[in-house]
Amino acid sequence: MTEQKSDYEFLLAAPKAELHVHLEGTIEPELLFLLAERNGIEIPYRTPEDVLNFQVEKKTSSTENLKNFLECLDISRGVLVKAIDYYDLTMHFLKQCQKEHIVYAEVMFDPQQAMRQGVEFEAAVEAIGQAQKDGLKEFEVETQWIMCFQRDHSPLEAEKILKQAEPFRDLIIGIGLDNAEVSGFPNLFSEVFRQAKLAGYHLTSHCDVNQPDAFDHIRGCIEQLSVHRIDHGLNVAQDEALVDTVLNKNICLTACPTYYATENSCPPDRMKMIKTLFRAGVMVSLNSDDPAQFGSGWLSNTLAVAQRSGGFTRQEMLRFMKNAFQSAWLPENRKKVYLDSLSEFERRVV
Ligand SMILES: [Zn+2]
Repeated sequence: MTEQKSDYEFLLAAPKAELHVHLEGTIEPELLFLLAERNGIEIPYRTPEDVLNFQVEKKTSSTENLKNFLECLDISRGVLVKAIDYYDLTMHFLKQCQKEHIVYAEVMFDPQQAMRQGVEFEAAVEAIGQAQKDGLKEFEVETQWIMCFQRDHSPLEAEKILKQAEPFRDLIIGIGLDNAEVSGFPNLFSEVFRQAKLAGYHLTSHCDVNQPDAFDHIRGCIEQLSVHRIDHGLNVAQDEALVDTVLNKNICLTACPTYYATENSCPPDRMKMIKTLFRAGVMVSLNSDDPAQFGSGWLSNTLAVAQRSGGFTRQEMLRFMKNAFQSAWLPENRKKVYLDSLSEFERRVV
């Protein structure tokens, strides 16, 4: 006999992978206030609700929303000024993963953010690495890390950091691009991605949804940067040739169905694109992106919002979860362990 669970309980209980989450986007209000106080940094919030409300005040369009979102994110990540802050934040994240039944995560972090705030690259990465080990023991969550360069900062700076990362290959599995979407950015980062590819890193890049030049950016990431994955990239759904390309190259799109800060819902245009891609057989996974910055919160609730908005069955939700494990940058035998545990869950619960 199968167990009876509500859709949310079902999504929470399933063993999950998270492929698109930014460490700096996981600073929940309680930790934000604690770090701000500890580091003597003033933040313009009085209550936890202010963190999300701040983004909504000036929002006028989906393009503006990215700008306002980043402005808000800057305030939150501005409290990270010491290596110990990175350790504490990573441990906080891993503890939450355990509650969420996220058993495996590929976590993005922005070294340029740390360095700008006075945390040396090595110190930040060592703190994350220590928390990775401690968190694996304490919370039984496996992680690998994606070092993201910021698209609105110098590609030469990125090349320098890539060299600094050499001793940390055990921790850093992939290279990504994030932050503000600069026009023509793939071309700017082709050299550093060429070097990263030669060094054997997995490659990904953000292509945010409905940004100017979205199609050119997606094509550029595939052709010039040779990415194995695209973060967001939903506009692929609107171009048949691009759908064929991502299918032929088996490129995973790490979709984030929710976006708006205080709304616990999925914008219809986003869901339409996710559905088109999913039905076409594209490897789409569903992810939380910046759980402390969105009204949808952590992954289980994000999945519940997606299921409700998209009218997906439990089997379809399991398909999204399988896509995440299948696209993970793990050896095949390790993927199989996770996929087997998801199949076992399916037999028991669905
Ligand atoms: Zn992202």
